[in-house]
Amino acid sequence: MYIDWNAHRFSGGVLALDLANTVIFRQAPERVQDRFSNSVEVARFATAAASFRSGEWGDVQFEAPESQSEHSKLIELREAINSLFRTAVAEEGFKAQHLSDFLRLGSALIADNQHEANLALPPFVRRRDLSLSVAAVLSALNLLDPRRLSRIKICPNCHWLYLDESRNRSRRWCDMTVCGNRAKAKRHYDRRSKMDG
Ligand SMILES: [Zn+2]
Repeated sequence: MYIDWNAHRFSGGVLALDLANTVIFRQAPERVQDRFSNSVEVARFATAAASFRSGEWGDVQFEAPESQSEHSKLIELREAINSLFRTAVAEEGFKAQHLSDFLRLGSALIADNQHEANLALPPFVRRRDLSLSVAAVLSALNLLDPRRLSRIKICPNCHWLYLDESRNRSRRWCDMTVCGNRAKAKRHYDRRSKMDG
């Protein structure tokens, strides 16, 4: 069955974090699931991302990896992005190893795609078709800026990473309609069971 790449799955707010969130239940090793374990889903993610991330990128097309080795590099990049920002949120700074891994992989991916001239960080995009991997590197480079880094949060319900762009930084969930409501229902249930017990 195909995955429905709906708005909820793009709660990260920027391509780099949406990519990190393609692994679900990272906090629970017995439940962890990789949405990209079927490479068909990477192409479907790329298509959906172009429309959900038009606020970040404007009118673009993301090209999914075509070979197995390109696929593996995208997965490596995804994990490097996840480690880099997840640790930075928790510990208020980058681990040297994580930053180095991200920059090394990012540099290699950009070198592999040298035909992609005129690269620029979003939203100053010149090209209308970009490899998904290179676009994810550029999206993540944008997040190194402390003004954006300080807005990255971890959803307390599903542990996804998301960028809180609200004016007073008040977003508590990756997605109020999914995780916010689940937490509300759980509080209600806990109260009820306390009353009943
Ligand atoms: Zn969530």
